[in-house]
Amino acid sequence: TAGWHWLFGDQLGPHFLTGGGGQGPGRDTPLVMIESRSVFRRRRFHRAKAHLVLSAMRHRAAELGDRVRYVKADSYREGLAKAVGKRDRVMVHHPTSRAALRLVESLEAVEVGAPRGFLVGPADFAAWADGHGGGARLRQEDFYRWVRRTHDLLMDGEQPAGGKWNLDHDNRQPPPKGAEALELKSPYRPREDDIDEEVRRDLDRWAEDGDVSFVGRDGPRRFPATRKEALAALKRFTAERLASFGPYEDAMLAGDPVMSHSLLSSSLNLGLLDPAECVERAEAAYRDGSAPLNSVEGFVRQIAGWREYVWQLYWYFGEEYRSSNALRHTAALPDWWDDLDADDVRARCLSTVLAQVRDTGWTHHIPRLMILGGYALQRGWGPAALTDWFHRSFVDGYDWVMLPNVVGMSQYADGGRMTTKPYTSGGAYVNRMSDLCGPCAYRPGDRTGEHACPYTTGYWVFMDRHRERLERNQRTAQPVRGLDRLGNLDEVRERYEEVGDGPP
Ligand code: FAD
Repeated sequence: TAGWHWLFGDQLGPHFLTGGGGQGPGRDTPLVMIESRSVFRRRRFHRAKAHLVLSAMRHRAAELGDRVRYVKADSYREGLAKAVGKRDRVMVHHPTSRAALRLVESLEAVEVGAPRGFLVGPADFAAWADGHGGGARLRQEDFYRWVRRTHDLLMDGEQPAGGKWNLDHDNRQPPPKGAEALELKSPYRPREDDIDEEVRRDLDRWAEDGDVSFVGRDGPRRFPATRKEALAALKRFTAERLASFGPYEDAMLAGDPVMSHSLLSSSLNLGLLDPAECVERAEAAYRDGSAPLNSVEGFVRQIAGWREYVWQLYWYFGEEYRSSNALRHTAALPDWWDDLDADDVRARCLSTVLAQVRDTGWTHHIPRLMILGGYALQRGWGPAALTDWFHRSFVDGYDWVMLPNVVGMSQYADGGRMTTKPYTSGGAYVNRMSDLCGPCAYRPGDRTGEHACPYTTGYWVFMDRHRERLERNQRTAQPVRGLDRLGNLDEVRERYEEVGDGPP
């Protein structure tokens, strides 16, 4: 029987087609791609995300031409039956979600190969993790150093380049005083073509038919859909933004949502870029003197450290991880949040960030963690519902990357398997790291009264609610003691209740 190779919609780059000899498709192996409508029907996705994913798949199919059979179907199962004969053998690289893995494993004709698009293989990770105390004691910093060594990344012989593994000390600065934006050339943005036109027409029609519904605004596609576009974006980033990546990694500016960030997550997650080429280019910029070490190390840490770690943990922590809820947070997400109604929000930081998500399906790491995730954590929203919201609302959202980031990093729902403490802060942090507070209706320093910053009251109420647990944690014991010095905790609680479920 003839053999096929199936490409999922996040396996679009050339590195999914190399290998041969059982490791990947041969040069002439026919390919199959399946566009499944039910993926969109099940949940309300951001319009920009639906657009990007379909556009990228259809662009890839157009490039592959006669070699690919591109099937539009109601489900993957139906699509595969349509595309290939009953007894044909089909190979596929390990998919990126548990649901997709279950599906391909349940199909008799399908053989599942090793994952692609990550630096570390599953067996190597398992061996590392078992050698590092397993589940409860794994630390990203140890993992990251191990990847640096084993991949000879940013190393001078046995030593880290420059002599230090971690240059966070030089990074994490507030934005430059008085600046409304970093003085950088605008980031790469693609130009739409006929395929995008067709995608837009299809999505309009599906929505009109009532078949699917979307959140967020439609607009010109902002993220790469092809290998060529993704490479142009990578090149522009390394030339123009990488040098200032480190210092302003954690800073936020109302008028400059991108700052020095790479905007490469969606391209990496669609498989248009391979992480190895991203970190290699960054290292080359350090070696040729065009970007300083703290910025290059910061960027390499994001990709070879965090991205890789998150991918591994998704599989390593097992299926139950999804329903972790160590803090027993069960409140529902309010409608204004679900609908991305940024205009109803008075807290300037949250309305700014929610508007970025509504308009583009993207915001950088700190707004995700501290503004969006931090608010949900303070309000006690259910972590599973929040994970689903992030997954649907972001152009780069996939099950594997959302689960550890939301359940673990942002909601501490795993009780500390991924991070050593919950990430949430009062308005003072936002004020220090951004220009968002200045003209806000609230004052970051106020805990009570009509100008009380919702993040500041939320922070103290969160600390109080979980006092017992946080007291026992070395990293949070001191802030918990701060509760006793407040003197007006009851009023803080009252103010928190006043804000309630409505937009703050
Ligand atoms: P840069 O700041 O330029 O970083 C470079 C690259 O590092 C990113 O492109 C990304 O591939 C990688 N990276 C950095 N941190 C992480 C991380 N924690 N997990 C995985 N990759 C990382 N990232 C996603 O790709 N998809 C998501 O769905 C996603 N959801 C998130 C949800 C929450 C609550 C939080 C706190 C973080 C989430 N992240 C997610 C991680 C990170 O915020 C984004 O990768 C980043 O903001 C994307 O913008 P960028 O490409 O400009 O990143």
